Amino acid sequence: MKEIVDYLHQIEEEMVDLLEQLVCYESPSTRPDLTEKIGRYLSNIFIDMTGGKVEKLFSDCYSTHLKAVWGEGDKQLLIITHMDTVWPEGTLEVMPFSITDGKAYGPGTFDMKAGIVQALFAIKTLKELNIHLDKKIVLMMTSDEELGSPTSKDYIIEEAKKSDGVFVLEPSQGKEGALKTARKGVGTFEIRVHGVPSHAGIDPEKGASAIEELAEQITYLSSLTDLEKGTTVNVGLIDGGSQKNVIAEDAHAVVDVRVQTKEEMNRVVPLIQNLKPHDPNIEITVTGEIYRPPLERTDDIERLFEKAKSLAHDYLGIELIEEFTGGGSDANFTASLAPTLDGLGAVGAGAHAHHEHCVVSEMPKRSALLALLLIEYGK
Ligand SMILES: [Zn+2]
Repeated sequence: MKEIVDYLHQIEEEMVDLLEQLVCYESPSTRPDLTEKIGRYLSNIFIDMTGGKVEKLFSDCYSTHLKAVWGEGDKQLLIITHMDTVWPEGTLEVMPFSITDGKAYGPGTFDMKAGIVQALFAIKTLKELNIHLDKKIVLMMTSDEELGSPTSKDYIIEEAKKSDGVFVLEPSQGKEGALKTARKGVGTFEIRVHGVPSHAGIDPEKGASAIEELAEQITYLSSLTDLEKGTTVNVGLIDGGSQKNVIAEDAHAVVDVRVQTKEEMNRVVPLIQNLKPHDPNIEITVTGEIYRPPLERTDDIERLFEKAKSLAHDYLGIELIEEFTGGGSDANFTASLAPTLDGLGAVGAGAHAHHEHCVVSEMPKRSALLALLLIEYGK
């Protein structure tokens, strides 16, 4: 075990070089031509570094996802990463890759290109040190996570069902690099209100205002928020109407919904789906869903975290802590299918923000933690 930690420390520079390469491949989720390029690069790197195999998983509207496999065995462990970022092409010109005071800055460093580097080096370390596992390791590298994983979700679920453990390389949380053992479920709903238009000055009584109706619905939707239970219903976008002197025919709202428990999900979702108009001349249509269910801290997750905590303490001198987050990740899909641990990626700050960075000296440590977990659960 100690050998793994020492080996990774010696090759810290190689890890940083690869991180720089990955950051220089700009890869916004909405640009399949660009995510395809980083995918090709990573595919070759994986084969070079580990001698493993890479399978392409087709996506109908984004670029191919990668399923990289190392080792042999009927059973498997799953590592989840994503290649895409939220940063548009050209971001590098204003936010170039740089290292200052031991921190690597640049688009996607923290979320989650350092995580990909750590996963690749964890597997390479097992190979270089001739450590044999009884299970194969499946490393998923997807290209649409930042969009809610619309086309990679089914692949992830399929692999999670076959896995004895799932390790998600999303960034850790806070200065201490906490792992994430609970996440909110996330959903989007669209509310379309259709009323009856008429001249606001001549025939006001003949109209039924979609805007007025939507306003009342917004107040109701907001009242579904229950901060104590971790539920938020946020009407984040609205539009409607055509002219100031026309009683509005249409109005539309987009609602972000987050829930901490399945119980709250089951309370709030039907209330949103069954909105009833106050005015019988008005129609309301609701579409949408909770696309990532809540990740609740199960006994399996607790056991996995306790194991990671003791490995980190014994071999890395890290006092690992766990935290809850309101953001969703692919761990939300897998937690009910296999023991899942999330936040195993980079230590740093600024996901989706201009000061995005990861702490370089933590990269070999976190990579070692993943390697130790793979050994622990791979036997
Ligand atoms: Zn991420």
